[in-house]
Amino acid sequence: MCLSDFSYSDTRFADIQMLRYRLDGFEELTLGQKKLIYYLSEATLFGRDITFDQFGRYNLKIRKLLEAVYTSEEAGRDTEQSEALGTYLRRVWFSNGIYHHYGCDKFKPGFTPGYLRNMVMALPEQVLPLSEGQTREQLCDELFPVIFDPEVMPMRVNKSDGDDLVVTSACNYYEGVTQKEVEDYYQALKDGAGDRPVSFGLNSKLVKRDGRICEQVWSADGMYGKAIRRIIGCLEKAAEVAENERQRDVILTLIDYYRTGDLSVFDDYSIRWVEEQEGRVDFVNGFIEVYGDPLGLKGSWEGIVEYKDMVATRRTRIISDNAQWFEDHSPVDPRFRKKTVKGVSANVVCAAMLGGDEYPSTAIGINLPNADWIRAEHGSKSVTIGNLTDAYNKAARGNGFKEEFVVDGETVALIERYGDLCDDLHTDLHECLGHGSGQLLPGVDSDALKAYGNTIEEARADLFGLYYIADRKLVELGLLPDEEAYKSHYYAYMLNGLMTQLVRIAPGARIEEAHMRNRALIARWCMDNGTAVRMVRRGGKRYVEVVDYGQLRELFARLLAEVQRIKSEGDFEAARRLVEKYAVEVDPELHAEVTERYRRLDIAPYKGFINPVLRPVKDGEGNIVDVRPDYTESYEHQMLRYSSDYATLI
Ligand code: ZN
Repeated sequence: MCLSDFSYSDTRFADIQMLRYRLDGFEELTLGQKKLIYYLSEATLFGRDITFDQFGRYNLKIRKLLEAVYTSEEAGRDTEQSEALGTYLRRVWFSNGIYHHYGCDKFKPGFTPGYLRNMVMALPEQVLPLSEGQTREQLCDELFPVIFDPEVMPMRVNKSDGDDLVVTSACNYYEGVTQKEVEDYYQALKDGAGDRPVSFGLNSKLVKRDGRICEQVWSADGMYGKAIRRIIGCLEKAAEVAENERQRDVILTLIDYYRTGDLSVFDDYSIRWVEEQEGRVDFVNGFIEVYGDPLGLKGSWEGIVEYKDMVATRRTRIISDNAQWFEDHSPVDPRFRKKTVKGVSANVVCAAMLGGDEYPSTAIGINLPNADWIRAEHGSKSVTIGNLTDAYNKAARGNGFKEEFVVDGETVALIERYGDLCDDLHTDLHECLGHGSGQLLPGVDSDALKAYGNTIEEARADLFGLYYIADRKLVELGLLPDEEAYKSHYYAYMLNGLMTQLVRIAPGARIEEAHMRNRALIARWCMDNGTAVRMVRRGGKRYVEVVDYGQLRELFARLLAEVQRIKSEGDFEAARRLVEKYAVEVDPELHAEVTERYRRLDIAPYKGFINPVLRPVKDGEGNIVDVRPDYTESYEHQMLRYSSDYATLI
């Protein structure tokens, strides 16, 4: 495989293209750092089954059943049915379950219940996911409605205004409780909590048994204990080869949290983690992001191991060194600005292993921890993942997308010249400054915006970046070559928010995912509230045209001020109005046009990553003397290997 197309893999299915990422500079790390990465990577892979179970209570059983059929002789490789089953299984692997990773709607299988039933009957019992005393027939009765009936558990996360979001979402975070009961339960805990509340509900399932509501905590001796104990085992080995004492402390505190399930230990861990800045290697491992819960309380399990890219980190250092200047000059009401911006650290890193909710589809920037009071008192750690962004950019080159959707050749040239640079810079601004900027007014509940909170928060961070990417300051700091560059990003952002992100939406569906809602919100609000941008028709096709870049920046500033006000005051009604008006609905005619134009380009709308295999090289006594990344494993092999070597819950 030649270097230039390294990032592409041959694997493509449904709406997915699989890519690979390279561990740049890995060879130059010390043996200790390589071993640390290796053990942390093992800890990352052992959480996979947790994520599957969180994303739907039947996911693990369904995965095991499909894998049994897929790897059996009986499946009959060349029939239409077995191919459809293979595609469905690849999608299940990709999404950690039977729901689309982005849209959250349930997959429609291309194979028949009859085919699957015949397979189940033909397979030996020991390869099937039979519960104690369960017959094959009972297994089919249990799983088939979940797989085949579109009415049964149709959405993983339902955020439709007016529905009971807990009852109508299939994610496995609640059982036997209503939205009202969940909200009351956690409100009571919050009311007694003081001004440094733990993240109530983050690491547990809330269930009602015999009329009583209780939490099943995810810890070494609790729910998911089998998986968590394996993770702890790997973390213990990692602690032995930590780069410094503080880093060892971070790992040991995480182990303590996994053992106890105590959320105040998690806060302690988060503070130590955010304050550990010296190590070259870093990681995220735990119940972190809350996008998978319609109420934004429960953390999905995720893991990532990374190491600093020393050259690219220079860029984000400049930004974070000037954080206070950006805060002081932002176009929001001074009451909502932070007087002192604390510890906004920012690094460009290389990902070395992805797991759980970060695999195979992954974020390209991370900003943690999420607890507002920790962010206010201790700051946050922010990374952009350079080797993943790079893989995306390489995969996008020459696919015809710009030529089809961008309004004219001049704008295409602008994007070709500045696009990658501005993309990276906007991600940095979003992560290093955007999320860390601003403050809540005293007494405002950080969850006041409820189901709209994530969208508003992402809009706030994006707008902060959009506003500043056009600022002369960035040219002065040497981050942009000239005062034209930002236009490429403004154009690309509006095009995406108004039109092209619609290719990710199924016909008839609404926009659900928080980042997509945020982009639609910003782009459509600007269309509605000014004359900077318009839609034009040429040759029967619609195009986005930016006619006044200066005015567009003013619009971003106005919306940033309003979004910050909503967050700072906890104005739920205003958040609801803004999101429902601009961020949710899809114009069916525009959607059909965009989808058709995109379909002709034959590009997969979603991408994800195959992990490298990290192979330890051992001497005669079994000591690790080197670790070597191998990039040759296929997607299918990797997934089947993970299902067997890292199986913990089934
Ligand atoms: Zn964000």
